[in-house]
Parts: sequence; structure tokens; C-alpha cells
Amino acid sequence: MLQISQSYIQVITDSVERVYPQEGCGLLLGTRLQDVTVVVDLYPTENAWNPAVAGMIGVGTGKTDRYWIDPAVMFQAMKAARSRHLDIVGVYHSHPDHPAIPSECDRRLAWPEYSYIIASVRQGNVVEMQCWRLNVQHQFESEMIQVTDPQTSKLAQ
Ligand SMILES: [Zn+2]
Repeated sequence: MLQISQSYIQVITDSVERVYPQEGCGLLLGTRLQDVTVVVDLYPTENAWNPAVAGMIGVGTGKTDRYWIDPAVMFQAMKAARSRHLDIVGVYHSHPDHPAIPSECDRRLAWPEYSYIIASVRQGNVVEMQCWRLNVQHQFESEMIQVTDPQTSKLAQ
């Protein structure tokens, strides 16, 4: 289960709607407990897809159906998280005019310990958000999102 506050859901929603029709992306910082991952902060990133990374993640049609987080940015995020005793616990990204279901490309590039929030954006509006996590066969399984209320999240911050 992934625990995330309503205010962060809103931040994700706003950020991926803003970059529509391109894919938007960012990192989830938090802590992993036994059965629950708690999102404590977000680390928004650029969609750094460019033709140079196409060989790794597939050409597609560009940023409208691909995203890429610069490994250097990933490293900065990891350092920022560590300094606060947090980890990168997942990634969020959007699927413009596609369902909130991971693509084969998403699956191939996914890390086993991460939670993957995918937001489906239709005509500029987020219509659905789902979370996914790899199982031992490296296949995605749905992970429940538990939204905590804004008051709770304010206390947590
Ligand atoms: Zn995707």
C-alpha cells in the first residue's frame, strides 16, 4: 500500500496537467515500512526524454509517450532524500490520453523496490491515478493508494 496525502495528489495532478500533452514525471520521497510505503515529499523532475536516450527506452513519438528522468537528477534527489533520512520510494508519471496502466517500456525500466504512480490525463485533465509495483516475476501488480487527509499530512510535515 502507498500512503500519500491529498495535497501531494493535487501537486501531481497540477504538474502533469500543466505539461499535457507531454508526459510529466517526478519522484516520490518517503519511507518504506513493512507493508506500507509512506510518501513524505515530492521531487518534481523534468521529462528529460531526448533522442539520445531513445536507444534505451524506445523512440515512441517523443515526450508525448515517453519520459526519462536524468540519472544526475535522480542522484541529486537521492542525496537530498538521504540528508533527511528518506529514500526515493517511487516515481510518478502521466499517460496523456492513455489509461493509467504501465506500458511495456515502463515495465522494462522499472525498479523492483519502487512504487509507480501513473496518472491518466485526458484532454488536459487527470481522470485516473493508479499505483503499480513489480512482483518477483518483474510484472506489474496494482498497489493500493491510501490517500491521507490534508490535516494529517500537515501534521506529518
Ligand atoms: Zn508510462
